[in-house]
Amino acid sequence: MAKVVKFGGSSLADANQFRKVADIIRSDKERRYVVPSAPGKRFSDDIKVTDMLYTCYDEICAGKNAITAFAPIAERFNGIISDLGLTISLDEEYATIMENFRKQAGRDYAASRGEYLNGIILANYLGFQFVDAAKGIFFGRNGEFDADLTDATLSAILEGYPNAVIPGFYGAKPDGTIKTFSRGGSDFTGSVVAKAIGAEIYENWTDVPGVAVADPRIVENPKFIDVVTYRELRELSYMGFSVLHQDAIFPVRTAQIPINIKNTNDPSAKGTMIVPEAPEGKNEHIITGIAGKKNFSAICLEKDEMNSEIGFLRRILTLMETENIAFEHIPTGIDTMNIIVNSEDLEKHPNFADRIVEVANPNHIEIEKNLALIAVVGRGMKATKGTATRIFAALSHANINIKMIDQGSSELNIIVGIEEADFEEAIRVIYNMFMLQE
Ligand code: ASP
Repeated sequence: MAKVVKFGGSSLADANQFRKVADIIRSDKERRYVVPSAPGKRFSDDIKVTDMLYTCYDEICAGKNAITAFAPIAERFNGIISDLGLTISLDEEYATIMENFRKQAGRDYAASRGEYLNGIILANYLGFQFVDAAKGIFFGRNGEFDADLTDATLSAILEGYPNAVIPGFYGAKPDGTIKTFSRGGSDFTGSVVAKAIGAEIYENWTDVPGVAVADPRIVENPKFIDVVTYRELRELSYMGFSVLHQDAIFPVRTAQIPINIKNTNDPSAKGTMIVPEAPEGKNEHIITGIAGKKNFSAICLEKDEMNSEIGFLRRILTLMETENIAFEHIPTGIDTMNIIVNSEDLEKHPNFADRIVEVANPNHIEIEKNLALIAVVGRGMKATKGTATRIFAALSHANINIKMIDQGSSELNIIVGIEEADFEEAIRVIYNMFMLQE
């Protein structure tokens, strides 16, 4: 059996962190396939290598001397190499990278070099095989991830090595051009590797104890989640949880491989398990997590006898499809309907309300901005009465007006829309209601 272990940028930010990572890997023989991020921040004002690479690339494209622009990046990697006492030199790699920057190989290529170089160092330090992600992770011509080709190629390559380091964050298009996933995408690479080798578990090592029940920037010292299902986490990530890249559960989900979020700085702690199915028995808490996002708008529509007018919503949805505007929720009344959309999408289409009037002729249309959505997620809700009551009571005691309510058909979440100004307070009072009073 094998485990895939992915280490985030802060876990590999300097030589000291590399040593912790190596100890973790060496303490369990099954930790055979390793996916590193690029070196992250060593202290709060530090700059992640990925961001340094974007800047460096832009500077070189704008005509700055490549050696000068690349020097701080080389310095970070050389510092790690010498502090670890390794004998490798990356000078030739640096020269190739600078040359490719000069040839304008692309921002994705530029950003990917952080993982690439870090992967070479880590493989050397561990004595593992280095496998360039460009050889095993593929995108189609239009940049869409090619799951099947990746899975087949990667599993064939990795079968040949008992241990390997595969850099996160990037792969290659059919013409060999490097493409990255979106930011934080090494989590996705880890998941892809776990699927390719049929891992028993995908361990995702970070600098926090696990997935917090609510955002620690809003709730002071929140509790951490012991077990969360893929579906719950999907809802929470979509609504703003950022411990794991929001797409990272998809590859392992098809293979039913659990993910364990662990803390590199406290390796013996259990962390958070992300599992395919809810474990047997009652949860300690009814809710698993509270997430939320700002920057939504509601398109509020009224039309007499809307409920019997066939095709009203279809006409609006067709318009939204043509204009490429996604909707988040559509709560409806008898003659009223709210369409909740991302405010940014709406800003791109300033005449959208006029277009709706053209296609659907409502009696009244109004756009309400500055809304926030909060999702209260928990598999425990289905079997428990009174969850909604408690959410509403918490909000009402805090004098927070609820503008929208939506309960998913799976009874896995309750979503409320409130004014942005109430966002932080709303999360705090809901957290207190469920996590401090049970
Ligand atoms: N280094 C990349 C980023 O900063 C990818 C990752 O760390 O997952 O987004």
